[in-house]
Amino acid sequence: MTEQEILQTALEAGFGDARLCRDGEGRPRLLTAYPYLRAKEHGDARISSYYYASQRSYLLLRGLAEKLCAAGLPCRRDDSVPLKPLALAYGLGVQGRNSLVLHPRFGSQMVLGCLLLEAELETPEPAPIRRCEDCGACQRACPAGALKEFAKVDLTRCLRTNMLSGKPYPPQLRPLLGDRLLGCDACQEVCPHNKGLEKPGGDGEPSLYALLAGDKACYQRLKAELGPNTARKNRLLAQALLCAASKKDPGVRPLGEPYLQDKDETVRDHAAWCLQQPKDEPLGGQTNAREEKHAGNAARAANPLRASDAAEDRGRA
Ligand code: SF4
Ligand code: SF4
Repeated sequence: MTEQEILQTALEAGFGDARLCRDGEGRPRLLTAYPYLRAKEHGDARISSYYYASQRSYLLLRGLAEKLCAAGLPCRRDDSVPLKPLALAYGLGVQGRNSLVLHPRFGSQMVLGCLLLEAELETPEPAPIRRCEDCGACQRACPAGALKEFAKVDLTRCLRTNMLSGKPYPPQLRPLLGDRLLGCDACQEVCPHNKGLEKPGGDGEPSLYALLAGDKACYQRLKAELGPNTARKNRLLAQALLCAASKKDPGVRPLGEPYLQDKDETVRDHAAWCLQQPKDEPLGGQTNAREEKHAGNAARAANPLRASDAAEDRGRA
């Protein structure tokens, strides 16, 4: 296959863009970008559209690998190298302050994927990395103050990064979660590169009731839509218990009681935290910008990790 035919096959498979590139060891790779639109509406347990797209991209990439192999180009899926630096060096987008790659058409709303190609191919030369215009909107919108330096996320603070660890969620960040079950889009929603990249309606997310009630059909559907790794029952349940803590609906929190005796340590820990939260006071973590600012200020005042932010804010003034 020629280089042009490889790229064309990727586009025909359903990817929005693709590049041939070389990794740090000089091995040729096919880098893919699968774009998605962000859902405008959410249920009471919000799952970022990224996670649905990520599973679709994974399935497409598997199909693409089979197609290329059948056409005489041996290749396999391989995510062992960081994809963002490759995407930046080979022109898939510019570097955003929020650490994400911003594609000229898809903004940061794309899933990167990669195939390792076992053939000798011509690849373009990497180019210098370009930066976004650094408007600062993502930094201001981050409810956890995780974006301080350009393109560096403070992983100890990022709400999204801490969600899939399987460990108890950092207590100081819990009041900021609100209805975020999986993912946090605050630093992408405000980015001008993502303007208009929304879709009406939602992704059909499950209700918090179904998750906390252990509804089998609900978990099976999520497994199919998000992939078995992302949709592990204990992970979702543990996150659902944190979301439940922010709900005023008196019927939700009691659903957490059976999980006080759960076998999983993280589920037990989150259930206990959920049931200990004051019922009539807001926890913070709501997802509109004004409320996020309020929640961020409240959390800053309430915990020592965030106290350093307040000091920096004063210094800036
Ligand atoms: S919001 Fe502004 S600073 Fe942040 S990534 Fe987008 S363009 Fe860059
Ligand atoms: S994902 Fe959320 S918490 Fe993480 S940097 Fe972006 S806005 Fe901040």
